[in-house]
Amino acid sequence: MSERSELVADLLAHARFLEGLDKVGVAWPPAGSADAEPQVAAGASLQGSAVASAPLAVASVGGAERLKAVRAELGDCQRCRLAGGRKTIVFGQGNPDAELMFVGEAPGADEDEQGLAFVGRAGQLLTDIIEKGMKLRRADVFIANVLKCRPPQNRNPEPDEILSCQPFLEAQIRAIRPRVLVGLGKFGAHWLLKTAAPITRLRGQLGEYEGIPVMPTYHPAYLLRNPAGKKDVWEDMKAVLRLLGRPVPGGSE
Ligand code: SF4
Repeated sequence: MSERSELVADLLAHARFLEGLDKVGVAWPPAGSADAEPQVAAGASLQGSAVASAPLAVASVGGAERLKAVRAELGDCQRCRLAGGRKTIVFGQGNPDAELMFVGEAPGADEDEQGLAFVGRAGQLLTDIIEKGMKLRRADVFIANVLKCRPPQNRNPEPDEILSCQPFLEAQIRAIRPRVLVGLGKFGAHWLLKTAAPITRLRGQLGEYEGIPVMPTYHPAYLLRNPAGKKDVWEDMKAVLRLLGRPVPGGSE
């Protein structure tokens, strides 16, 4: 295919993507994103009008429908080199209308095998944090990763892979519209907070992603190697429960 034909094919694919998201009420690009800025500037005279204050999405369509459209667009994704080594795409799972969403790094061997996020030992620990610690049901939250395919030998994600996969996590968050996000480990926290600060410094410090509070905390895989970090994670999860207006187990808060 010539370079020009490839460009046209890309533009058509993107147009279909936008059309699909629009049909189910997922706004694209998000307000405040770099892509959205020119539109805001162009519509400056509309400030205060119905257009300027239009809601981000159509309320009548549920998170499940919106997520389905995102999954459909992802398809059998070949957008980065990780497609070549994966067994399955790990889209993420949970309640499509979850109030709480966790964002981790990437699938490992167990996740790649089963097509589900956080199902290995680290996943079991995350389940314990959610169910035994926070007294929530894992099925009531949503769990996803920055990357949807397993990097070889579980190496760190590369910047271009993160960039290729980025639109889908962005669209998932806009589809689910959680009230609170938790960034698990360096990659989850960096992606959500757009920073490269060490996780040891970020942990426990509330940030924000598109107006949604973000709690960065340690990755469960780190906790398996460093159990002493569990105390800090519990403090972070207590803060998350307070943000959600939920009871804090074992506390008078
Ligand atoms: S990691 Fe993301 S962008 Fe890369 S192939 Fe998988 S789904 Fe596509």
